Amino acid sequence: MLKELTQNLSELNSKAKDVLTLIEQHDQIVILRHQKPDPDAYGAQLGLRNYLRNKYKDKDIIALGGLEPSLDFLGEMDEEKPLNSPLIIAVDTANLDRLDGTIEAGNKLVKIDHHPDVDPFGDLSIVETAVSSASELLYLLMDLWDTHPIDNEVAACLYMGIVGDTGRFLYNNTSPLTLQVASRLIDFEFDAAKLNNQMHQSTKKAFMYKGWLISQAVFLDSGIAYTYVPEEVIKEFDLSMSEAGLDVNIFRDIDEVKVWFLALEDKDQIRIRLRSKEIVINDIAGEFGGGGHPLASGIRVSDKNELEALIERIEEKLV
Ligand code: AMP
Repeated sequence: MLKELTQNLSELNSKAKDVLTLIEQHDQIVILRHQKPDPDAYGAQLGLRNYLRNKYKDKDIIALGGLEPSLDFLGEMDEEKPLNSPLIIAVDTANLDRLDGTIEAGNKLVKIDHHPDVDPFGDLSIVETAVSSASELLYLLMDLWDTHPIDNEVAACLYMGIVGDTGRFLYNNTSPLTLQVASRLIDFEFDAAKLNNQMHQSTKKAFMYKGWLISQAVFLDSGIAYTYVPEEVIKEFDLSMSEAGLDVNIFRDIDEVKVWFLALEDKDQIRIRLRSKEIVINDIAGEFGGGGHPLASGIRVSDKNELEALIERIEEKLV
């Protein structure tokens, strides 16, 4: 069944072996993912690390990047240490400048991703935009490589990555293939309901902040809704930047809303988490130096004037 559903994934089928060969040629491997990680970034990264550790007991395999305490339940990042020209595998990262980690001259680099390939990088890359998540793509790779090293921990990481990027299987990136992969993963022994609860646990301060976001929401006649969040509000509620952006989907279920975003002041920039029900927005995000998926994109603008220009550009498309 998986074979039937994956036959159009040309990069997966043509390059899976080449990536495995590169892995086998290296004794040291570093797995990286994007800055401000989400469950898919963490799940794909740690799922791959644990899988490769199970498969290659003698290799030195580490996952590096900034800690995100809200994702601790998926596992921990490793300590940095001196390595000798390791293979770098970047998962879930479309743009090299968003990679949370450094690449030294001479390092071989592999990209494994599901975002549109706006910034092709790496000596070898597998990019499949038809899958829901990097975690789904990694399961498919493991299915071609050898499913034997998938244990409960690997399965839990990949499953939660898929849950994260599909909004618990609600978004339109949830395909028959996604559900097939998820059904294989959930067959392992891990407590999916408990992990789901952990992933969606909130705190009192985050709850109060959500109230603030709603109280400050702006609704435009064009169908755009947003809340602008000054940096002092994030400090006042004692939230990290990741926590402050979590509630972007408060607008999703409102009838009149077609496109929505949170604009979060982050030092001298404004981070935009942009979402849409139907109209494609990643092209507009690209025009402003951002990127992402057709209905879920991100951009960093430099000031409120650029934010206004972005809103005008979205409105042109909404007419
Ligand atoms: P986020 O709102 O951070 O969840 O991002 C939604 C999607 O847009 C994800 O696929 C991100 O990888 C992508 N994205 C977010 N910010 C940027 C950015 N500044 N440049 C390019 N892509 C981005």
